[in-house]
Amino acid sequence: MIEPIVDLGEAQDCLTTLFDQPDLSCAVLTGAGISTDSGIPDFRSPGGIWSKRLPVQFQDFVQSAESRREDWLRRLEMLDIFEKAEPNAAHRFLVDLEQPGKLELLVTQNVDGLHQRAGTSTEKLVELHGNSTFATCLDCGKRHELEPLRPLVAAGDSPKCSACNGLLKPAVVSFGQQMPMKKLQHAARVAASVDVFLVIGSSLVVYPAAELPVIAAEAGATLVIVNGEETPIDGLADHILRTRIAKTFEKITI
Ligand SMILES: [Zn+2]
Repeated sequence: MIEPIVDLGEAQDCLTTLFDQPDLSCAVLTGAGISTDSGIPDFRSPGGIWSKRLPVQFQDFVQSAESRREDWLRRLEMLDIFEKAEPNAAHRFLVDLEQPGKLELLVTQNVDGLHQRAGTSTEKLVELHGNSTFATCLDCGKRHELEPLRPLVAAGDSPKCSACNGLLKPAVVSFGQQMPMKKLQHAARVAASVDVFLVIGSSLVVYPAAELPVIAAEAGATLVIVNGEETPIDGLADHILRTRIAKTFEKITI
């Protein structure tokens, strides 16, 4: 296995050299680590929201008003954190990557909406676990903003759709709910076709996301992993960068 780069300047040189190449095609996978420098804690880490109370299963959300209330309260709690956060240099780098046509696809495990807020185009973005910053109607799919729903939730009501009176649910993929399979298949095809696959802030333990860099590496892509800790597929990587994520991307220009 190659040695991880721990020096900031060396990490920046590595990325600059790599992304400076003309006609490069790149796919990216991001996880919680890209957003921690924006002030968003990893909700799965010890002490995080999900370690204190178990996530609400999809079936329970549909069937039980009490489960819905618990889920809504937690989503609104998370919204407070998301609203205060700003995209950082790593999110912005991925926006810059689009301009010269180097970004094929950005797949994220995050539900904080920061890639969209940074300016990544929706057609380049796959939010594997959905987005927790708005809600959709389970019947007609209409999008609803969360902020106006606060009083309803506080009063103990389940928010309903203004168009069809269907149940509203935060637009995340809950446990027991299907992942966006077509998007995932598309992501796998893209992963198998790019020159570079870049992982930022994912510990690569949650499947199927963790499979994408493996597919890319096996198809011959240069695999770069920028993450604070070791991952199970470090052995496949061409470059491992173990530097502060936002700092690392501050100086990279394309
Ligand atoms: Zn509806």
